[in-house]
Parts: sequence; structure tokens; C-alpha cells
Amino acid sequence: MNNYQSPKRRNSGVDTTLFLVLVIIIAIIANIFIFSGLRSEHTPKDNADLRTETEKVEKDPDPSQSGISNAPSVIIPENYKSVTVDSGEIHFGELVLINGEYPHVADGVHNVTRYETPVDVYANKNKNYAVKDMSIDLNPVVIENLNAMFTDYVAFSGAADIYINAAYRSHEDQKAIYDQKGSDIAALPGYSEHHSGYAFDVAVHSGGKYSAISDTGHFTWLPENCKKYGFIRRYPEGKTDITGITFEPWHYRFVGVPHSYYIMENSLTLEEYVKLLKSYTLMGEHLAISAGDKTYEIYYVPAGQGTTEIFVPTDKAYTISGNNVDGFVITVDNTATPTAEKAENAENAA
Ligand SMILES: [Zn+2]
Repeated sequence: MNNYQSPKRRNSGVDTTLFLVLVIIIAIIANIFIFSGLRSEHTPKDNADLRTETEKVEKDPDPSQSGISNAPSVIIPENYKSVTVDSGEIHFGELVLINGEYPHVADGVHNVTRYETPVDVYANKNKNYAVKDMSIDLNPVVIENLNAMFTDYVAFSGAADIYINAAYRSHEDQKAIYDQKGSDIAALPGYSEHHSGYAFDVAVHSGGKYSAISDTGHFTWLPENCKKYGFIRRYPEGKTDITGITFEPWHYRFVGVPHSYYIMENSLTLEEYVKLLKSYTLMGEHLAISAGDKTYEIYYVPAGQGTTEIFVPTDKAYTISGNNVDGFVITVDNTATPTAEKAENAENAA
């Protein structure tokens, strides 16, 4: 068997060597052709890739051409300065989103611009509206704007027929309501927007009668004009799938001008607005909002680990608010220069 097979094997060995040599030669020739073909085919593509690279570079600000100075780790635009805030501050400010997903945070450092503690409305209100009782507390900025809104409301309607039915609630207050009314009606303690001091419910008192407010008669003035005073209707009709709360014509929330303009004019919920703002960043496009005779620009800064560095304008008035989700919203008033108070706020934030 061995003798018979060995010559054949030898022959096949020679064949294999020849075959391999041929394959190598063919492969080298083919490779030269293919490679040169690929090169000529790919030259324009390589250029295109280069062009893309150039475009990428050009999209980044050129310090020498746009007056932007270079910091070691981050590019600071001209007329901006850095302030550093505790990242826990995302839970405070006029734009905090409080719902079933993002609870109210009761404790914090509270030094985000304009963060305020609720005070007695009765002691600070004017005669153009009433309060249910002395337990009605709201943040001072809310009362200030309620006074302005109801003065205009009474001038329009001739009737001081609205009263504040509910306002700030502590977590303990909410627990009592929850225990009494149940989960179908009351939010879980910690998950009610009333904890913020920026939310309140209105009702009607007329001729000794108390009733729920509805979108009828002169009451429609409120949803039509609330934006001018920084208020929104927090739980609008047809948005229950987003807010988790059925339409509440009586529940208003202070978010401040110009946010109230944008939210009311575009029929948004605060959930949608907070999400939308995240697409406007410091170095990207800012959200421009016209509110009355003023113009504003808004941008979002994500919260960092521990502290967050926020770039704010040096030549314009601004406010900073947490969103209670993951970052900060900077509101720049293009028509106002920083005041001493604003400068102080910035120092506090720093
Ligand atoms: Zn309410």
C-alpha cells in the first residue's frame, strides 16, 4: 500500500508547490490591480473624508477669529463668566418639574437664584382676591405676581370673585390629605407640586357661594392672560398621558416670564417644556422667546458630579433654576443689564 501510494503522494506534493506558487503570483498581480483600482476609486472619498474632518474642525469655534478665549479644559464664550453651584441645587428654582416621576426634594442648600420660602399670602396680598384662610402660603415672587394679575383681572371683569383655595403644602400636609382622600384624588406625599410653593388652586366665591372655577364667562381671562405674570395652567386638557393628572382648570403654577409665554402659547406641559429645553445648550442654539416687549434667550446646562460649572453672561441679567430632573436652566434677559441684586445672586450661586 505504501509503495503504491508514495509516488502519487510525491507527485501531488510537486503539484501542490506549483499550485501555491501560481496562487501567490496571481494573488500579487491581482492585489496590485485591486489596490490601484481601490486607490483611484477611493481618492475622492478620501478627500470627502478629509473635507468632513475640516468641517468638523470648523464647526468648533476658532479662538483667533471669533474672539473666544481658550481655557485649559473648556472654551468660554466672550462676555460669559463661570459660576459654580452645588449640583443638588437642581431641585430648586422656578422651573422645577414635580410629578409622579420626579418628587419634590425638601432639603437643600437653596441658593439657586430666586429660590424662596413660602410666606403667608393673606399678610401680603392686595384686595383684588381672597384666600381660603390663614394657612395659605406661597413663595413671595408668586404673591407679587398674583397681586399684579388679580388687579388686572378685576379691572377687566369688575369682580373680585376669585380666592386661593390651596397653595403650599408640606409633605406632612400632603400625607394627611392622601390618608383622607386616597390615591385616586391626592398625590403621594413628596410628589405633589404644591410642595414647591409655586403652585396654587383657585376657586370662585360669589354671592356667598363657593364653586369650582371653569372656562366660562369672564373666567376665561385667567388662562388667556396668566402668562403675562409668569403663570401656566399646569394640567391642561388632553395632556393627561403626559402629566398623569386629569384636566384641572383651577391649578396654576408659577414658572416665571418668559417660560410662561412659551408654554401657554405652544400649549405645552411643563414635562414637555423641560425636555425641550435640554436641546438648547450654551455652545449650541439658545431658545429665543419674546415676552411682551422683552426678549430672552434660554439654555440648559447638565448637572455635574458634586458641583456644576455654569457659564452666565457678564453683561446681561440672568436667572438660574434647577429642573428637578438633571440640570439647570439659564434664562437671559436680553433687554436688561445685571443689577446689583442680580450680581449678588450670581455671587451667591458661586
Ligand atoms: Zn392644585
